[in-house]
Amino acid sequence: MKNEFSHSDYIIIGAGAAGLFAAGKLTQLGKTVRIIDSEDKPGKKILISGGGYCNFTNIHTNPSHFISDNPHFCTSALSRYSPYQFIELVEKYHIPYHEKVLGQMFCDTSARDIVRMLMSEIHQNTFTLELQCKVKAVTKSDIFFVHTDKGMYTSQSVIVSSGGLSIPKMGASCIGYDIALSFGHTIIPTKPGLVPLIVSEDTFPCSELAGLSIQSEIQTEKSPIFKEGLLFTHKGLSGPAILQASSYINDSPTININTLINPSHYATIVQGNFGKMDWKNALSTIFPKRFAYAWAQYHKQSETYSHYSVKTRTSFADQLMNWQPIINGNEGYAKAEVTVGGVNTKELSSKTMMSNKIPHLYFIGEVVDVTGHLGGYNFQWAWASANAISISSN
Ligand SMILES: Cc1cc2nc3c(=O)[nH]c(=O)nc-3n(C[C@H](O)[C@H](O)[C@H](O)COP(=O)(O)OP(=O)(O)OC[C@H]3O[C@@H](n4cnc5c(N)ncnc54)[C@H](O)[C@@H]3O)c2cc1C
Repeated sequence: MKNEFSHSDYIIIGAGAAGLFAAGKLTQLGKTVRIIDSEDKPGKKILISGGGYCNFTNIHTNPSHFISDNPHFCTSALSRYSPYQFIELVEKYHIPYHEKVLGQMFCDTSARDIVRMLMSEIHQNTFTLELQCKVKAVTKSDIFFVHTDKGMYTSQSVIVSSGGLSIPKMGASCIGYDIALSFGHTIIPTKPGLVPLIVSEDTFPCSELAGLSIQSEIQTEKSPIFKEGLLFTHKGLSGPAILQASSYINDSPTININTLINPSHYATIVQGNFGKMDWKNALSTIFPKRFAYAWAQYHKQSETYSHYSVKTRTSFADQLMNWQPIINGNEGYAKAEVTVGGVNTKELSSKTMMSNKIPHLYFIGEVVDVTGHLGGYNFQWAWASANAISISSN
């Protein structure tokens, strides 16, 4: 049932992960809440997340899994809402789930379970949901005025949870940044994160291997080492390790890919017992054949194993450990899972997520300059930052 109050305690801009979670917490405190979203249903990004199974949290969450210009900002909110608290909620709703790998928690059945749970947590008698309603601007006198394409709404407080710029066809817009700028905030420059990379075909013919996955260890100038899968695509590289690294790289990126992550494989290549076997077939004993053949052909390694000296084989092994393909950009916001950068956290309270400039204006979730690694960290940030507001409103 739709409640027709015209003025509310809170207007939440964006019915995504952070906005819906905040609405649940605030209505449980008896606050009147209006959520406004430009899309036709709430939680659209949750529905497509984790391949439709929503990787809703990561049990290893800690600040080192987040990128921000102000790395300690996220500590306070994260420490006050743990992954186990969200898991407890999931269990309360009897949603079947499992740990996939590396602490990543997924729904067994469908991401729809998470959206249903978030909606059920919202007390309907003090709540109204405006869908297909686009926020254009927010102004303030003694109260807030939220200007939309369907008219104006007023409230005591405004929570901006309009997300980042990734996946424009799912409602992503720059409104959160525009609102922040209009109230005197600054924005840490944004860029696509967790995004497939485009590789120059001169560096390696990735397209020939599209769909093939190998294990790898990837490091960029500024990132930790990511030891996960690497996927070849028609345009270059993707897969978890590449997506992770992509959030760290800038305009002229250098990434180092180690394809020889099993130490025994190094010895196999340098001192193996392959005699007159073709080099590419020797490589096939440790790599998928398609990769081994393409790698040997590209590097003109067409002789037999024993043709190459130990010194040469050592250099070949080193080449496999230090592959630095030339990156020609990324596949952009259309393919990026997240937006790196956002509202400058130095201008927000880390305890309450409230603006230090405008009382009762809050920013939560992805619109803020806090970006998680792949693996459920971005949703954990959405829950934790939304929870911070409800604690301050209690
Ligand atoms: C394909 C994909 C898969 C992902 N999988 C995972 C995963 O498994 N685990 C994980 O942790 N993270 C995942 N993410 C990242 C995660 O979805 C986001 O970090 C998270 O949804 C951010 O939550 P949010 O509430 O801040 O923003 P969003 O969920 O993006 O919500 C923002 C809302 O604001 C609305 N909005 C925008 N502009 C306006 C406007 N002008 N007026 C009104 N409404 C507006 C949008 O319609 C949207 O509903 C994935 C992302 C993508 C794209």
